Amino acid sequence: MRKKIAAGNWKMNKTFEEGQILLSEVVNMVKDEVTNPNVQVIVCVPAPYLSSFGKMIDTPKVALGAQNCYPKASGAYTGEVSVPMLKSVGVSYIIIGHSERRQYFNESDAFLAEKVDAILAEGLTPIFCCGETLEQRNEGIHFDFVCGQITNSLFHLSAEDLKKTVIAYEPIWAIGTGVTASNDQAQEMHKVLRDHLASKYGQEVADEISILYGGSVNGANAQELFACPDVDGGLVGGASLKSREFTNIAKSF
Ligand code: PEP
Repeated sequence: MRKKIAAGNWKMNKTFEEGQILLSEVVNMVKDEVTNPNVQVIVCVPAPYLSSFGKMIDTPKVALGAQNCYPKASGAYTGEVSVPMLKSVGVSYIIIGHSERRQYFNESDAFLAEKVDAILAEGLTPIFCCGETLEQRNEGIHFDFVCGQITNSLFHLSAEDLKKTVIAYEPIWAIGTGVTASNDQAQEMHKVLRDHLASKYGQEVADEISILYGGSVNGANAQELFACPDVDGGLVGGASLKSREFTNIAKSF
């Protein structure tokens, strides 16, 4: 059975002390209230907090995630953080290809393919983000565009490696806007993506990949979204900064 995932992306929010409070609330609530053994909660906290916050997590129900990485293992790359470094402080999941990084830091599909390889080489799990702009959707090219992102960054992988990857479909027009894709829009795209994976790797492999939806997920809409057959959870931005709401999302499967 595909893993169900509620992943929180804190982005560049919270001071160290604020983050400590938020994380301890999330860990305690998840420990007490998330009873489905197939649900994995992930908290992707700002890089400077990873080492310390990892030590606060005392349950396998919650995993530590990073928001980015650099594909080289070490060397003269001032300011960057490598996958072995993240692994050494207890990170298990790494978000890559978030639309904000694609937009503000010009990250290309080819660069993301390198990151995927670096993450898998260390035995960690990439959360690979993809998604279209509103203009692309209005032009009717959204399916081709998002499938293309997956082809360009993931289709060089073996089936075994692809199965270790999590995909997050995040329509850019729904991120941080309060506008959520309808259940039908989310399911439609997730099915297209799963069919795309199946066209290359076969249905059995495609059926093992968790595909998350991201874009203004909250405590009120999570249950309906997660009930869609091809939606295996959420990548959550704003609502992951509120412990009660994020835990409610994690209980929505
Ligand atoms: C995100 O940052 O990945 C995201 C989906 O943000 P939000 O939930 O705030 O739309």
